[in-house]
Amino acid sequence: MSVRVRFAPSPTGYLHVGGLRTALYNYLFARRHNGKCILRIEDTDRTRFVENAQENLINSLRWAGIEFDEGPSMGGDFGPYVQSERFDLYKKYAQQLINSGNAYYAFDTAEELEAMRERHQKIGAAPKYDRESMRNQLTLGADETQQLIDSGTAYVVRMKVPAEAEIKFNDIIRGEVSVSGADVDDQILLKSDGFPTYHLANVVDDHLMQISHVIRGEEWLPSTPKHVLLYQFLGWECPEFAHLPLLLNNDRTKLSKRQGSVAVEDFVEKGYFKETLVNFIALLGWNPTADREIFSLQELIDSFSLEKVNKGGAVFDTQKLNWMNAQYLRSLEPSDLAERFKPYLLKSGYGDFSNDYLAKVIVLLRERVEILNDIAVFADYMFHKPKFYNTDYMKKHWKDGTAELIKPLVDLLSQVSNWEHKILHDETMKYVESRGLKLKDVIHPIRLMTTGESVGAGMFETMEVLGKTECLDRFDIFLNKKSNGEI
Ligand code: GLU
Repeated sequence: MSVRVRFAPSPTGYLHVGGLRTALYNYLFARRHNGKCILRIEDTDRTRFVENAQENLINSLRWAGIEFDEGPSMGGDFGPYVQSERFDLYKKYAQQLINSGNAYYAFDTAEELEAMRERHQKIGAAPKYDRESMRNQLTLGADETQQLIDSGTAYVVRMKVPAEAEIKFNDIIRGEVSVSGADVDDQILLKSDGFPTYHLANVVDDHLMQISHVIRGEEWLPSTPKHVLLYQFLGWECPEFAHLPLLLNNDRTKLSKRQGSVAVEDFVEKGYFKETLVNFIALLGWNPTADREIFSLQELIDSFSLEKVNKGGAVFDTQKLNWMNAQYLRSLEPSDLAERFKPYLLKSGYGDFSNDYLAKVIVLLRERVEILNDIAVFADYMFHKPKFYNTDYMKKHWKDGTAELIKPLVDLLSQVSNWEHKILHDETMKYVESRGLKLKDVIHPIRLMTTGESVGAGMFETMEVLGKTECLDRFDIFLNKKSNGEI
């Protein structure tokens, strides 16, 4: 059997990290088995329609490098791939289910349904549609049903779940699942506006698109018995199912917005690499080997196995995400990183710098931050002259006599033609030794003049990257301000 899987998001605003994991596992599975990965937009719930949501979703997936073989923008033999463009199809199958006695019309109003719910609550019954007491085709009979339909009464179509049925299916991750029909609700399949519900559209499309494996989040597991029944009613073969474990916060509650970011676009915004996010998300619920954490997309594809996905919830550990991002920051090519850093610097108002300069700044500072963009915050003096000088640092390291000590050194350094850290170090060393001093007696004043900050990368390395003209300029500005009493 050829592998065909799908990622079927509802466009409700943004791509959740859980959605990214589902998309990624589908993608890895398809690539691993030389199958096809399909993108299908499930927009049957028009009340949840959000403008631009579909574009946002597709952009986030593209950013992560997940490619689809068929879908709304790339087409394919099984389209259209947006459910709202397939509405007529679903009606046909709803009719087929009615004709075969596996679905029925129901005319209950919202008030009647509410009264039923209250009744059930009072006696502690399961919150299920009570087929026997409500106003539907089964209680009203064929003639009255037809009359109501002809007179334009609003109706829904519900599936008729046989109470005595034992619904069984195999889940690749969870093993055999068995549910009694008595515990399954008579799910609405067609709403009063004529739109299908998720359940009907999902099953019809998975069948028509010849989906071999349904890989989706655990929250859909309770819906699966309904789907399995629909496959049976329609005389179709069931796909294989794999329900992925929940994503959890550190405190093991369900991952939610309240405890931090859950939208992929937030992580993009914060400056995480796509390599990090894909690597990190891939390991939420699965790990190819116990002794490694860093995997390229190709390595993930080569070792992906649904059988090895865990049942238990997977904790979304931001500390681990940051650690992993730092690993990528330290291993990606500086020229590539410069390219990625540039737009952020422009957008945030730091300015436009050559890739060559940015690559050097990155090499200088990447051991000290976890996120590339943080370099601009941690060492903003690499992008403009110091705007102020750390007062405590200045008090501690700029005393009476410091100017007299530093000026001859500045003169000496201005003679250095080869502005390399090693040479700068050696020249400075020579100077302090000739005066019977230690390196630390001048290094702090130099750092203060150059960066305004008390911490940073190696001082001579920093000076090398900034360049001779810039450093001499900064020394000059500082010394002038000092002698004018401005600082
Ligand atoms: N539209 C559903 C969602 O938003 C898809 C569930 C499924 O994959 O069956 O997650």
